[in-house]
Amino acid sequence: MMGELRELYQEVIFDHNRNPRNFRVMADANRRVEGFNPLCGDRLTLYLKVEDGTIKDASFQGQGCAISTASVSLMTELIKGQTEQEAEELFEVLHKIITSQDEAVNLEELGKLAVLAGVREYPARVKCATLAWHTLVAALKNDRDTVTTE
Ligand code: ZN
Repeated sequence: MMGELRELYQEVIFDHNRNPRNFRVMADANRRVEGFNPLCGDRLTLYLKVEDGTIKDASFQGQGCAISTASVSLMTELIKGQTEQEAEELFEVLHKIITSQDEAVNLEELGKLAVLAGVREYPARVKCATLAWHTLVAALKNDRDTVTTE
């Protein structure tokens, strides 16, 4: 990875961790799913308001490491206004980037997701980065059980 991207990655993770976006309980959420990553101890509750197949609002609460907090913060920003299908596609793209070592991935096309792609360089932290997204998929399926990364 280029040094420039690594710098951006660290900067964005730091920023979102210090000032998490959409960090609040959503009183009128119609989806609420808890996620837990036992490897690191990351816990989060994801709230979504889904209407007519579109994610009208997204927020979260919880406590985790910098990467998990930044990932869920960034995710709530990205998925707001998207359809459920678009959000699922975003997860699939991200998952492929993070878990493959394919250098041919076009980081420029990824926009903000490219920041999370940086976690590829830290395999032990992949579950921290994907916890929010696994929780999102469960929420979109309207699964109310607790999600763990194991
Ligand atoms: Zn973590």
